[in-house]
Amino acid sequence: MIVARTRASLRDARARLPGTVGVVPTMGALHEGHRALLRTARRRERSVVATLFVNRTQFNDPADYAAYPRDEGEDLAAFEACGVDLVFAPPVSEMYPNGFGTRIDPGPIAAELEGARRPGHFAGVATVVAKLFNLTRPTRAYFGQKDWQQTRVIARMVEDLNLPIDPVIVPTVRNPDGLALSSRNVRLTPDQRQAATALWRGLASARDAWDDDERSPAALAELVRTTIRAEPLAKLEYAEVRHALTLEPVGRARPPLVIAVAADIGGIGLIDNVVLGDGLVDDGGA
Ligand code: AMP
Repeated sequence: MIVARTRASLRDARARLPGTVGVVPTMGALHEGHRALLRTARRRERSVVATLFVNRTQFNDPADYAAYPRDEGEDLAAFEACGVDLVFAPPVSEMYPNGFGTRIDPGPIAAELEGARRPGHFAGVATVVAKLFNLTRPTRAYFGQKDWQQTRVIARMVEDLNLPIDPVIVPTVRNPDGLALSSRNVRLTPDQRQAATALWRGLASARDAWDDDERSPAALAELVRTTIRAEPLAKLEYAEVRHALTLEPVGRARPPLVIAVAADIGGIGLIDNVVLGDGLVDDGGA
């Protein structure tokens, strides 16, 4: 496994990679969710590139950036164990040299939900992902369903800017109690960690209601809200039923849909979602 620290050394190493190239962008603190992306890429591509960069411009809260867990040694070992061929782990100065000024504005899709909660977040994501795409020139790029809106912002950008890249969305990996794996989970106390399961419990109750033919978006969203509000340590940020692709509000619940939830637990922002509709998330085939 090659570890590139500079754009120049990345370009050299990338030029030598054979066949199809899958890129897995990460901010490190790797867990089984990241590993699922890496394994999917490993299965499907001849060459796998992982990126490791905690991107300051997508953190609207400096304290969240400062507290973001970092352990490069462990991350590199995890990449190696997953069969990654090339890691790009640049310092900030390589990604944002003096004079850096261009930003990608992802448009209205970035203003909703997480975008409303975290102003500027998706401009930061889109900009760094576009840079990473240009540097790694992948055939396909692998992203997690857990950050559903992120996958839609990137799909929009790929289409709008005619980027020659195929995004692949890998299903959310969860703990046995349903909590979606997140690098931020390590910051939760045991009580908060327990409270955090309310996100999944709420989503699961909405999905059960969906299976029982509930088709009112308001009723489905309210089931999630009620579950989170019953949890004293959790502060509900939003629970919404939206069109899964455009993220626009829907009048009647009809696939493709996403039920998206965000809550604040002890100052830590957690998100989760359920997607209703076929073919939106990678099914492990091909
Ligand atoms: P991050 O390091 O948090 O920026 O995440 C890197 C990638 O891993 C993103 O595409 C995330 O959506 C994905 N990811 C994070 N958590 C999970 C999870 N629990 N299941 C699947 N993918 C995940």
